[in-house]
Amino acid sequence: MADRPIVDFVGKLPISVRRVYSGEGELTSAVEVYCHPRERSVPVETCEGCDDYAGMLLAVDGSRKLVLCRRLNPETARGLERPTPPMPRRLPVLEPTPADRVPVSEILTADVVCVREDLTLAALAKLLLDRGLSGVPVVDAAGRPIGVVSKTDLVRHPDATGRVAEVMTPMSFVLHPDATISQAAALMAFEGVHRLPVVSDDGKVIGLCSSLDVLRWLGQRDGYLVAT
Ligand code: SF4
Repeated sequence: MADRPIVDFVGKLPISVRRVYSGEGELTSAVEVYCHPRERSVPVETCEGCDDYAGMLLAVDGSRKLVLCRRLNPETARGLERPTPPMPRRLPVLEPTPADRVPVSEILTADVVCVREDLTLAALAKLLLDRGLSGVPVVDAAGRPIGVVSKTDLVRHPDATGRVAEVMTPMSFVLHPDATISQAAALMAFEGVHRLPVVSDDGKVIGLCSSLDVLRWLGQRDGYLVAT
């Protein structure tokens, strides 16, 4: 890395961890950030070898690691045109609430367990039980979401013995990390789902936002000591 002063960095990039289970339960992991100059997700090791890398940091609440990047201009990144998911109709609001201002990037689970379509149902059941999960995104080889699969899907297909592809719900409601908590809540309530994958600008899963994450944020915002 070139010897440049740290004071000129402009951006903090959240690191996401995607743990993907496939086949009989084999695990592959990707530890990535979204690189705006390259317009794609890159492994953290790529940052560590980059001239614009200025180090790593823990977020203020200690929950996430961040890459310090001299090339990220947060204002430019925020101004990008992004497709938004179809949202339920909203009545005019007089004043935005805190949930209109806080992005889902503040509450999502950034260490996210995903599965491939070829994971066996036996391995899926074990994974959900062992990790205390009620559902997980199904991703393609690049880490893009193609559906979700949950305990409910297993219960709905009690005789299925094959692979995730047989019981998953193909879908594709996703959130961008800049979406607000009120948008996440409205979309989950309107579509009747309990979790939405959060994707980077190149469409890869970088987190999961669940109804529980929204409820936890609400409780904490109102001063309750809610465990994270
Ligand atoms: S440090 Fe380099 S590779 Fe990493 S996000 Fe910044 S420009 Fe991209």
